Amino acid sequence: MSRPPYKWFFESTTPVEGHMHAIARTIASRQTAFQLMEIMETLSYGKCLVLDGRIQSSQGDEFIYHEALVHPGLLAHPDPRRAMVIGGGEGATVREILRHRSIAECLMVDIDGEVVAECRQHLPEMHQGAFEDPRTRLLHEDARAYLEKTSERFDLIVIDLVEPLEEGPACLLFTREFYTLVRDRLTERGVMTMQAGMTKVNELAFFAAVNRTLREVFPVVAPYQTFVSCFGTPWGFSVGSKGADPRAQTPADIDGLIAARLAEKDLGYWDGATHQHCFSLPKFIRRALAESDRVITDAHPLIVT
Ligand code: SAM
Repeated sequence: MSRPPYKWFFESTTPVEGHMHAIARTIASRQTAFQLMEIMETLSYGKCLVLDGRIQSSQGDEFIYHEALVHPGLLAHPDPRRAMVIGGGEGATVREILRHRSIAECLMVDIDGEVVAECRQHLPEMHQGAFEDPRTRLLHEDARAYLEKTSERFDLIVIDLVEPLEEGPACLLFTREFYTLVRDRLTERGVMTMQAGMTKVNELAFFAAVNRTLREVFPVVAPYQTFVSCFGTPWGFSVGSKGADPRAQTPADIDGLIAARLAEKDLGYWDGATHQHCFSLPKFIRRALAESDRVITDAHPLIVT
């Protein structure tokens, strides 16, 4: 039986490897002031946000990415009230933060108002009304410039940015100087979480360098990973903490905190067992983290190709 003539979207995950998605329809596509934005409906994962040719998230598995990005940070803080999202496009990161009843305010600073407007219109499955929540405040400006001028302090800062592509809008938001700025805008026991690039074999340099750089700035740095199907690769994250170490929290601790703190307890991915699994990194990744001596700085940024 011949395969139907689908349109295909090919994403290069590395210069020598890629991932193909059959496309049902393209919902929106435009070149914004900062990046090429496309919202496509794939047959395998439903609607996807694609920026500069790279899948940012899909309807089918975004819960894995966004729960992994948010909950380890919030559950590591004793009583989080004020949160900030750097980037965050689709609004799903804000959605996960607002699940925590203790959160009184969540500020999202995304440089690209056009991307966020398109996501608000075409991706309700992802933001689920998070932009309309009275606790949400939305700004469209460069997040680094915002942090440099603000006197606000946050219990949690989530860095949910695109990868630092050549001439992309996020190049100088993966450096020691930027992480120092983030640390200094956190409250006394504040926590930062971030997406930190892929963690597959032979492609660990970025993940290892980001964590090496974070260790220059934060007393506690806890890397972890999960598999994001629509990315076609395992993906890395990291917690930078001025207080608690999420690796010291047991599965029972995590399940207890989720039961006590979340309005809607039924997370699709994150719980005590998942927490333990994601922070239990395999030997080859632990070795790459231990051996990396690459500190990313403004003068020597690390660009993803
Ligand atoms: N990696 C995430 C994902 O896979 O779901 C990305 C989420 S989000 C789409 C990334 C956002 O970062 C984009 O909406 C982009 O506009 C924003 N961004 C890029 N550079 C930025 C900057 N300098 N300041 C604030 N936001 C920025």
